[in-house]
Amino acid sequence: MSISEELSAMEGLFHREVMKGVYIICTTQNVPTDDPFSLAPGMPTGNCYLVTGEEKAILFDLAIPDTRVKRYAELLAGKPAMLVLSHGHSDHIFCLDMWEEVWLHKEDVPIIVQGSSWQAPLPEERCPTFNFLEDGDVIDLGGRRLEVIHIPGHTPGSIMLLDSKTRTLLSGDSVTRRLLYGVSGFVPFDVFCRSLESLKKKEFDTIYSAHDRCSLPKSHIDLMLWQIRDCFLSNYKIYDNPVFGTLADTSYGDMYTKHYFDMAVPDFLTT
Ligand SMILES: [Zn+2]
Repeated sequence: MSISEELSAMEGLFHREVMKGVYIICTTQNVPTDDPFSLAPGMPTGNCYLVTGEEKAILFDLAIPDTRVKRYAELLAGKPAMLVLSHGHSDHIFCLDMWEEVWLHKEDVPIIVQGSSWQAPLPEERCPTFNFLEDGDVIDLGGRRLEVIHIPGHTPGSIMLLDSKTRTLLSGDSVTRRLLYGVSGFVPFDVFCRSLESLKKKEFDTIYSAHDRCSLPKSHIDLMLWQIRDCFLSNYKIYDNPVFGTLADTSYGDMYTKHYFDMAVPDFLTT
């Protein structure tokens, strides 16, 4: 069986090359067709990203609950992939026990191994070897270098990957149309906003997040900053979320366009 035949035989999984050598891997469980952008931007989904170089490949996040993702990514890359996690939340570590090693920021390891009121801990015997990445680290894939950017906020150890070759930022859950904030420890809003300000100085044009069906322009960071600094505290609604408890939420714009931002934080953070 050829590689493309084997890939298409994995029913329900599909991919699209969004930038040269940067692939989104997605599932029809989240999207009813094999086009991840068909309902763009619309409702949230779960995206894994595969970034390939001449020597190495990286899979960024395990955002699909499917044991075949590792095989799919490595077939697509034509080589073994190094697993990097944007953070430790349960919807980014599906089937983590299939991997021998993983790279992430050390501050998110407790989220995985200790769990929380809403996330079951991963037993030690099912944890891969943890390797740590820090802000400013560069991962050389051969002909492509990815910069690690640490952005505490969504979680204390959230990281993003910047591909200068395609001027693309893989943002995890940190720069996104739907920001859940402060459910795994609280980073002061001004610290997060300062990180967003310095992010604007980096060289990129396009953002791909873990849960959006669309790319986002760099100007999305300004929309986030404006909402967090100027709007959120005077304009939120309280609602009960079955997983995270009582949340304060604000949203701006039409969710069926790219120009949309929704932010939710535990309500005690607004007092
Ligand atoms: Zn998350």
